[in-house]
Amino acid sequence: MRAWSRIARAAGERVGFVPTMGYLHEGHLSLMREAKRRADLCVVSIYVNPTQFGPKEDFSKYPRDFERDRKLCESVGVDAIFAPTNEEMYPAGAATTWVEETAVSERWEGMSRPGHFRGVCTVVAKLFNCVLPDVACFGQKDAQQCAVLRRMVRDLNFPLEFVVCPTVREPDGLAMSSRNVYLSPTERQEALALKQSLDLARRELAAGRTIDEVSAAMTKLITSKPSARIDYIAFVDSETLLPVNRYEPGRLLVAMAVFVGKTRLIDNMVL
Ligand code: AMP
Repeated sequence: MRAWSRIARAAGERVGFVPTMGYLHEGHLSLMREAKRRADLCVVSIYVNPTQFGPKEDFSKYPRDFERDRKLCESVGVDAIFAPTNEEMYPAGAATTWVEETAVSERWEGMSRPGHFRGVCTVVAKLFNCVLPDVACFGQKDAQQCAVLRRMVRDLNFPLEFVVCPTVREPDGLAMSSRNVYLSPTERQEALALKQSLDLARRELAAGRTIDEVSAAMTKLITSKPSARIDYIAFVDSETLLPVNRYEPGRLLVAMAVFVGKTRLIDNMVL
């Protein structure tokens, strides 16, 4: 992978990069198109990284379909797919050197999924060292992941441009996710409560309601769905992920994780 990238760069071409765990959807494809716009070549990695899953999480049942992914990559003009095996990524079994961000990753996803961001930072740093990208594109759908990785790129001086692309949604508003395939038809319908509650937040904050009032209204909307259970709803600064208690337009990130049945979904909006 690195040899391929070095040859491209020596020829004066900019390398764009989109890291994914595969089972690609339109959200991933939008990142690939953006990478193509910002660079000459686009590399996509497809790797379900075991070190970012907790012991009770869905690593073994995470959906995988390489042939389908390969065709989708081809359809948007991806130049190379990097799909390493676990043995290639972690030759000695588990890694004993980790990359850990210790501020932005502390709360929310970091609290609910201990070790998750350490796994993400470590694998993304490794992937950057394999792919040598000039530009790397990530999705706003994973807002905290973007904030953590942006911090890692700055702190460790990764020589690349870090790009965040908008969340792509289904026509009815559900944020696209590889995990949506886990939802039953009823759960799929009830999962609309995430986006509906974010729209509610936007309306109510614009109408002058306090964050506490808005949070209560969102909770009520989501818990009215029998299959939904809230993990967290966070009103935070979009860069530091620290809680805020007053609405400052442009910086307020409303982020949530909600179990719909057994499936854990996340969504967010910058207001
Ligand atoms: P994943 O395969 O879930 O690890 O996601 C790979 C990349 O795609 C990450 O940067 C995600 O934030 C991004 N992504 C996932 N879903 C969406 C979406 N619905 N819209 C935009 N980007 C997304």
